[in-house]
Amino acid sequence: MIQNPIYVTQPYMPPLEEFIPYLQQIWGSKILTNNGPMHKNLEQELVEYLNVPEVALFANGTLALLTALQVLRISGEVITTPFSFVATAHSLFWHSIKPVFVDIDPQIFNLNPEKIEAAITPRTTAIMPVHVYGKPCDVENIQRIADSYGLKVIYDAAHAFGVQYKGQSLLSHGDLSTLSFHATKVFNTFEGGAIICPNAKTKQQINDLKNFGFHDETTVVAPGINAKMNEVQAAFGLLQLKHVDQAIARREEIDRLYRKELEGIEGITLPSLPEDTKYNYTYFPVLVEKEYPLTRDGLNNRLREHGIIPRRYFYPLISEFPMYRGLPSATSQNLPVAHKVAESVLCLPIYPALADEEVAKIASLIQGNYT
Ligand SMILES: *Cc1c(COP(=O)(O)O)cnc(C)c1O
Repeated sequence: MIQNPIYVTQPYMPPLEEFIPYLQQIWGSKILTNNGPMHKNLEQELVEYLNVPEVALFANGTLALLTALQVLRISGEVITTPFSFVATAHSLFWHSIKPVFVDIDPQIFNLNPEKIEAAITPRTTAIMPVHVYGKPCDVENIQRIADSYGLKVIYDAAHAFGVQYKGQSLLSHGDLSTLSFHATKVFNTFEGGAIICPNAKTKQQINDLKNFGFHDETTVVAPGINAKMNEVQAAFGLLQLKHVDQAIARREEIDRLYRKELEGIEGITLPSLPEDTKYNYTYFPVLVEKEYPLTRDGLNNRLREHGIIPRRYFYPLISEFPMYRGLPSATSQNLPVAHKVAESVLCLPIYPALADEEVAKIASLIQGNYT
């Protein structure tokens, strides 16, 4: 019998009383959007927290991706991964850019740098990798390839909030990185997103583009969009930021608990934590292999019968959706590793309010104690 289903994630909600003073300020100022005080503060606090040069806030992560492509004038073909949320490729589609899918690495599940060069053509202008589950891509080799072919690199870093790699923000790699602050992410502003960029000049161009292309009151410099984050979203971000370290610390405890309980179950593979990384524990993927008594979908259904709602991130692959599956790079022969992972992965619930007993119950079900 399902009482309170345990979903794969649940947004971290700070105490409501703590949010009231922020709302009072907004009511007092009557500034609701257009780079108001909350927005300015959140940009500044994120620059410090994330240790990056510039942050431009967005209404959501998809608009951040669209604008990142626009500001770098990306066109033609872009090399990307099929193993991601569909918005990665959709952002290319909206600009009439052709996604070229390249297979993933079997350990980390990110774009495999060894497969990139063979996919480069004279029309290739950029590489758009994803730090899937917040685990760093092979940023050094990707940059090396980009440099030798004169390509831009835009990281879809929607999962990588707060991740540090080799003592440096993971978000400072590539030409630009984009974040999502959707309700399901480690840090949320209900809906929201950001572009991390290297200098003030690029940030100014991005700011113009997210406000219809207005550079000043009477000058429109580009066909921009409306992608501005509003003051209530920004205020919620300021409050979340006060709690985010504690929220990530609790995620780490849950990750450790799962690893202890699930270690050594035949047919359940636990992908390892990334090396040289301060990680954010945003997802807890496991691979359900053929030695396990149930199929991946069988285990998914079994857990659901017990009120646990895992998610098959990322199944189906982006390359399987109707608008992409006709592309030459979308064939399953081109993407064997991505298909194998998409068919065996299951992301288990992980979020700060998940109790130790709930983790133990989920683990016990996976161990085969179904009653
Ligand atoms: C969540 C997500 C997005 C989209 O972000 P929104 O804020 O929901 O628009 C893009 N890419 C990846 C990999 C995501 O997980």
